[in-house]
Amino acid sequence: MSVEKDLYAILGASPTDSVQQLRHKYQKLALQCHPDRLGDVCDIVAETSRKMFLEIDAAWKILCEDETRKTYDQQRRARELKQDWPVDSVVSLEDMTWDQDELAYTYSCRCGGQFSFSEEELERRIDEEKTNESQHVVVCCDTCSLSLYVK
Ligand SMILES: [Zn+2]
Repeated sequence: MSVEKDLYAILGASPTDSVQQLRHKYQKLALQCHPDRLGDVCDIVAETSRKMFLEIDAAWKILCEDETRKTYDQQRRARELKQDWPVDSVVSLEDMTWDQDELAYTYSCRCGGQFSFSEEELERRIDEEKTNESQHVVVCCDTCSLSLYVK
């Protein structure tokens, strides 16, 4: 089964749902498309329902167990982060140039633009990121949409 599919979306559920809520949604959907309950339908409908049923069943099997759900949540979160930030590369602070005039760290983007942030901003970001339990600070290019993880 593809890891790209959102298991919560398959169940029509939300990541904040409790396991009881998930079970309820799973059972409702599973009943709707269970092969034994379809009755007299054409082959295409039967086939679509069969696939849906397998998908719902597989999603539920991952989300009903605390451990597998936790692992899946982490993967999902990592994927979301990637989508939110098209990260160009990861650099450490030492790789950046300290600009004494601007009192800011700078780094050249491949588009010719610049990543730049002040020491003050860096500290503020680090505080923010700490609460998000993230190890990186994200800086965006001043010209294009690329971003940089600063360690
Ligand atoms: Zn750029």
